[in-house]
Amino acid sequence: MRKVISVVVPVYNEEAGIRDFLMQQLIPVLDELKYGAEVILVNDGSGDKTVEKIRECVGGKKDIKLISFARNFGKEIALTAGLQHAKGDAVIMIDADGQHPVEMIPKMVEKWENGAQIVTAVRDENTTKHKMGSRIYYAMMRMFGNKNIVVGAMDFRLVDRDVMDEFNKMTERNRLTRGLIDWLGVPQEYIKVHTKNRMNGKPTYSAKRLMALTVDGLVSSSRTPLLIFGYIGLFITVVSLILGLFILIQQYIMGDPLGLDWSGAVAMSVFVSFLVGLVLISQAITAIYISQIHVEAKGRPLYVVDKRKSFGLDDER
Ligand code: UDP
Ligand code: MG
Repeated sequence: MRKVISVVVPVYNEEAGIRDFLMQQLIPVLDELKYGAEVILVNDGSGDKTVEKIRECVGGKKDIKLISFARNFGKEIALTAGLQHAKGDAVIMIDADGQHPVEMIPKMVEKWENGAQIVTAVRDENTTKHKMGSRIYYAMMRMFGNKNIVVGAMDFRLVDRDVMDEFNKMTERNRLTRGLIDWLGVPQEYIKVHTKNRMNGKPTYSAKRLMALTVDGLVSSSRTPLLIFGYIGLFITVVSLILGLFILIQQYIMGDPLGLDWSGAVAMSVFVSFLVGLVLISQAITAIYISQIHVEAKGRPLYVVDKRKSFGLDDER
């Protein structure tokens, strides 16, 4: 049977550009492929005429599907819904605003034909949009989270069916699609792309939303931020313990042979810092427990099977 490529497009308030995107960009490129194509549009609770526009131009066409959310759930959830419904042998995810160049789709497909399981588009350096924001994001991810994160890797990706099946097993609510795909650990191939400006409208990810996304990404991938305070607490405790013992022995037991004559306030503040240190340590211990619960609550699959390298399995295809 002819192989099918699924294309998943999250759409939110794109009434101005969705028609062009579908009719002028996406569909012509898909028509050129030698595979069947399935387009899954996910309307993420648009408040404008997006759905009407979609109906107008592609309504009733076989192989074009629309999943429409009751309200705005955010792009990551929209993508997830689309990916879960995709049936193709490979799934491509792409933004509806024209920023992800559709011309790259044939190249992605070619890499897939040559055996790539994940093809990730990487933003060309000088076209980075949220320049400051994404720098901070990557710096923080590097420091605390995923060491191998590729700068400029986008949500514009092709993912093979086998990998998609693994992806779909992940049940966590708080999700960053590209982070989860990276987590699977399947080798990726990269292609450089020039992102374009949005065709119409404004990006919906404000600085505030990006910040929240960064924090989510960090918290879901690492517990280092939590532990840092534990280390600070440990340091304070040890230093104030030594200082406290020094004061006790020097001043009160040996009768101040060094003639420092430190007041009671000094002893008091050393004691207080000691307590602060203990509080920070106990908080970090709590944090470790919470992070364990967090890992459990996410219910990620315990391992990921590379079906290409295994054999004799029941579900071999
Ligand atoms: N989008 C969505 N839900 C949202 C926000 C955005 O489905 O709550 C879609 C949007 O229609 C577009 C893609 O996600 O197809 C990327 O959104 P945007 O261009 O606003 O973000 P950026 O380009 O800044 O990543
Ligand atoms: Mg955009």
